Amino acid sequence: MAKHFISGQWVASSSGETLPVIDPATGEAFDEIPRGTKADVDRAVRAARSALGGPWGRLTATERGRILSRMGALILERHEELSQLEARDTGKPMSQARNDITVAARYCEYYGAAADKLHGEQIPYLNDFHVVVLHEPYGVTAHILPWNYPAQMFGRSVIPALATGNAPVLKPSEDACMTPLAFCDIARAAGLPDGALNVVTGLGEEAGDALTHHRDIDFITFTGSPEVGTLVQKAGAERTLKVVLELGGKSPHIVFDDADFERTAGFVIKAITQNAGQTCSAGSRLLVQRNVYDRFVALVAERFKQSVAGTPAMDKDCGPLINAAQKTRVEGFIRQAKQSGIAVLAEGRVAEGVHKGGYYVAPTLFGPVPRDHALACSEVFGPVLSALPFDDEDDAIRLANATDYGLIAAVWTRDGGRQTRVARAMKCGQVYINAYGAGGGVELPFGGVKRSGHGREKGFIALQEFCTVKTVVQYHGR
Ligand code: NAD
Repeated sequence: MAKHFISGQWVASSSGETLPVIDPATGEAFDEIPRGTKADVDRAVRAARSALGGPWGRLTATERGRILSRMGALILERHEELSQLEARDTGKPMSQARNDITVAARYCEYYGAAADKLHGEQIPYLNDFHVVVLHEPYGVTAHILPWNYPAQMFGRSVIPALATGNAPVLKPSEDACMTPLAFCDIARAAGLPDGALNVVTGLGEEAGDALTHHRDIDFITFTGSPEVGTLVQKAGAERTLKVVLELGGKSPHIVFDDADFERTAGFVIKAITQNAGQTCSAGSRLLVQRNVYDRFVALVAERFKQSVAGTPAMDKDCGPLINAAQKTRVEGFIRQAKQSGIAVLAEGRVAEGVHKGGYYVAPTLFGPVPRDHALACSEVFGPVLSALPFDDEDDAIRLANATDYGLIAAVWTRDGGRQTRVARAMKCGQVYINAYGAGGGVELPFGGVKRSGHGREKGFIALQEFCTVKTVVQYHGR
């Protein structure tokens, strides 16, 4: 049975209660995690606070970086075992799980190497004054993460916080948290001092709520739904804490008539089937110039029909959804779209021989979807792609920006001027030109605008997010 990781020790919940860990490919439990309580969260926050005043707080940036680099190496040593665990916990195909573990290690390598490269600055000021700007850790950082990429999310959120000398307390998702727990063992083996990293498992409305409302945290970072993100922002506002929010998206592919159709079609399909569409930056809207709409959408549909959902071991295009509620939600979107008379242009299939209790949904392509339909505006978080035609560049820009979200976008055209114009007109945090990257990109600053959230993760900028700036102004005249 899994336990909380607090002050370098594995501990049970103070209540003794547990939650089942479900395999989405079968719907059956294969382990248990503690159902974290307010008391557990308090214990974890106290452990983090004392680590900051102890050996962890005294390490140099170089020493912190070495520990993280060692974590990366240890993750790679246990790569296959961790990949199997990630696949079982989330249902994702083995090759995707393997990639996710590689990316988790890559975060450790990147931020391990970067830990001692975050410099402050010296500012020219008045005569006889010496001014320096210091980047200092916030202190105890609270991290609330979702279930779609537990291993990658751990790397993306927790590792830069450690690199900058914070002491994270993590509440991973109750639906998938096994690899973050395994990473705690790895952190200990890599020499991370006790209390520098603490993980409390449990439900969002219990352990998550207790963490975001704890009076002794200094910073909150949350990845998940806009609804819960709003609650988290309110909890932070009560104590005027800095809150970083990474929420959902409804990211568009904008395909112009001069695009390389073959190449574009492959990316479009992968961007919605990857992780069964349960990716915040999934490419869920396919916007196609009207004069080539039928031709391009027919090409996508032809290939889309070949997509298959299967078990992790089958290693198909996607796996099952994470749980029964998510399956019901996604099927609801599909049913409602069909009832509204929107045409199904292509349907993938669920592989034969999968367990009947698994949460499988066949990938589905709809089009043309009316611009104001829920399918064109709401995040489905499943393998459902909506095709919509547009008239010209201005119309494409209007349509691409027409949702409440603003996470990422892709522009597919050979016209260089148009590439730049459209990229600059996008209201979002990342734009790809003739490419798409849902998920990875450790080095690339990532985050949203509008309802997709605020603050940036990944890349060097994440180190700055986890630091507060202090200006020291010294008079050194006689
Ligand atoms: P969710 O918001 O339901 O849960 C996310 C986390 O918040 C979980 O750990 C959950 O236990 C916790 N939580 C729930 N209620 C809470 C509360 N009252 N107080 C504190 N914590 C609470 O999201 P989910 O269902 O796990 O993930 C799906 C959503 O997350 C989608 O909308 C998706 O787009 C978004 N997401 C965004 C990104 C991104 O980087 N932008 C990445 C992954 C997922």
